[in-house]
Amino acid sequence: MGDPCTHLDLYNPAAVPSAEGCEDCLKTGGRWVHLRMCRSCGHVGCCDSSPNKHASKHAAESGDPLVSSFEPGEDWWWCYVDEIAFAVPSAPLYSHP
Ligand SMILES: [Zn+2]
Ligand SMILES: [Zn+2]
Ligand SMILES: [Zn+2]
Repeated sequence: MGDPCTHLDLYNPAAVPSAEGCEDCLKTGGRWVHLRMCRSCGHVGCCDSSPNKHASKHAAESGDPLVSSFEPGEDWWWCYVDEIAFAVPSAPLYSHP
């Protein structure tokens, strides 16, 4: 199976989660539904079902297109440019406690 996302060169294996929750909501007292982790810099942001959509905002502002789910038991990645979900079995997965 070919890899349909062409941005995996932006994956940084050294990136680790920046926080245990959405780092932007933690600063402002906001609430989130689900969390995503940027695989280029480690930014943890909230999903598009959350009021502030910080993961999407981070991708738009930083140009980092790759996130993976930060939810326990989930192993999917998402590319904001290609708008596709996929898995990277060789990469470590992170989730909030
Ligand atoms: Zn992509
Ligand atoms: Zn947030
Ligand atoms: Zn980032």
